[in-house]
Amino acid sequence: MARIGVMGGTFDPIHIGHLIAASEVHTSLQLDQVLFIPAGEPWQKVSQNVSSAQSRFAMTELAIADDDRFEISDIEITRDGPSYAIDTFHQLKARQPADEFLWIVGADVLQRINTWHRWEEFVSLVPIVAVNRLGIEIAELPFEYTEVQMPEVRISATSLRKRYADGDSNKYLVPDCVDSYIKEQSLYRQAQG
Ligand code: ATP
Ligand code: MG
Repeated sequence: MARIGVMGGTFDPIHIGHLIAASEVHTSLQLDQVLFIPAGEPWQKVSQNVSSAQSRFAMTELAIADDDRFEISDIEITRDGPSYAIDTFHQLKARQPADEFLWIVGADVLQRINTWHRWEEFVSLVPIVAVNRLGIEIAELPFEYTEVQMPEVRISATSLRKRYADGDSNKYLVPDCVDSYIKEQSLYRQAQG
């Protein structure tokens, strides 16, 4: 049996906040692996101009390539329709019934889990691991979760997209290989949501 932390996200682009969170949770909970799952259709971001699934997958793949603890899955990208975590969980469990899957979320996402599709079923089935983010104080929540403290980096993909549009350097905020990909593909040339 392997214990696998699932790091879901839009990853538009992936940045050091995601990587530090995954690494700290891996260490703290002694996981066997962290599985990065780029969302196919981030249904809570439909009003935004999200980069293609292919670009977001490619950036995530580049970012984790040299870390043996990290893997990537295209499970949400190859599934049609909105990317609901509950569906992803059931699909992972069907493929690897002996493994345990824990869901890693930042404090902002933790506070909003009750907006997820079938969230009550989700939190009753899946162990939730929350990392600190944006100085958010985690309020009392009606379900159990494990907290892991990480050295907080107050950056977001939203702020990075703006910085790229403004032509600012993002060295040290995204891995160099991801930075090169963004420039080669001319992503984030214009400010977007
Ligand atoms: P956006 O600004 O587009 O929402 P984001 O930076 O929040 O992007 P997401 O892809 O939305 O990145 O986040 C995926 C997961 O990573 C979420 O659980 C989120 O809380 C967590 N996360 C993102 N950035 C950080 C950070 N700096 N520190 C800790 N967790 C983070
Ligand atoms: Mg976010």
